[in-house]
Amino acid sequence: MGPKQLPDFFKTLGEPSFRAQQILQWIHQHYVDDFSEMTNISKALRTRLAEVAEIRAPRVISEYPSQDGTRKWLLQLHDGQCIEMVFIPEAERGTLCISSQVGCALDCTFCATARQGFNRNLSAAEMIGQVWIAKRLLDTDQRRVVSNVVLMGMGEPLLNFDNVVTALQTLLDDHAYGLSKRRVTLSTSGVVPALDRLSQQVDVALAVSLHAPNDALRNELVPLNRKYPINELMAACRRFLERKSQRERITMEYVMLEGVNDRPEHAQQLVQLLRSVPSKVNLIPFNPFPETRYRRSSVAAIERFRAILERQGLVAITRKTRGDDVAAACGQLAGQVNDRSRRHLHFAKLEDHLP
Ligand code: SAH
Repeated sequence: MGPKQLPDFFKTLGEPSFRAQQILQWIHQHYVDDFSEMTNISKALRTRLAEVAEIRAPRVISEYPSQDGTRKWLLQLHDGQCIEMVFIPEAERGTLCISSQVGCALDCTFCATARQGFNRNLSAAEMIGQVWIAKRLLDTDQRRVVSNVVLMGMGEPLLNFDNVVTALQTLLDDHAYGLSKRRVTLSTSGVVPALDRLSQQVDVALAVSLHAPNDALRNELVPLNRKYPINELMAACRRFLERKSQRERITMEYVMLEGVNDRPEHAQQLVQLLRSVPSKVNLIPFNPFPETRYRRSSVAAIERFRAILERQGLVAITRKTRGDDVAAACGQLAGQVNDRSRRHLHFAKLEDHLP
């Protein structure tokens, strides 16, 4: 339960709604997972809480420290399923990349998570539990260092809408993590109807996995595009920005695949496409994984691509590759999900999962 559900929960227990704030603080600011330690709450209520509720986080199975300071953790959920999360420290900030699903249903051709198929959605607790664990694992000084959270791990967050919204609200809430809305980013392959709902429910930064400047190519790389083609996605992006109070931009992610989407004409098309959407482009050098058919674009090709965008007035940066020595980089998270069997079902019934 997040800040929107907890007050009602306490009401059903006959308690004042400010108990919600106390509980949020104990769990998310003091990292307490035992009701008996919550000393500003009456003994009777503590006992009652222990009977009707539990505070449970995923279990850390293993940690993979990268040479560049990035750390990846394999976590196990209560039903034995595994997910991964990654902490990426930088000079000015520390970014925690969390997963939203066990596996992924979308089948993007260049992503290792897709290979694993889809298994199930994470609960809000399993998502926020990743942040809670990471902060606990980092030593006290470093806790502050989780300054940013990105939903860019395994899964498509907008196909797990309600739980993702609860997790985001907990990240933003002052009694919990109190992160500013600019420091929480949701990344999506472009589930258009859910994108429209998102901005009505919670205010966070948005990244869109674009990866191709035309439908023919994007249909191939991001199969979801066959359902929500580029022009519909761009229109949804514009609506998303219109609903924002301040002038903001959407981060457009673009993976650089040698000979596939990295030619100058692709850059030109991208410039045309993004004229109508305030955006900044994040070029991601492709991160390889076993048995992939793709190769990373050369440094020169990426630089040439970026220069074309910049010359025509777009903000474009090349994302620094982090943690690739321990398969912690973008698109390399695979956890240990082996069940592909339900993917086609899930994909065929996409609408059932939309709000
Ligand atoms: N499903 C969401 C969240 C995942 S974010 C989404 O698609 O946005 C992970 C980001 O890494 C996405 O932009 C994804 O397209 C990108 N990515 C996937 N595989 C990659 C790879 N092998 N190399 C580099 N980036 C990759």
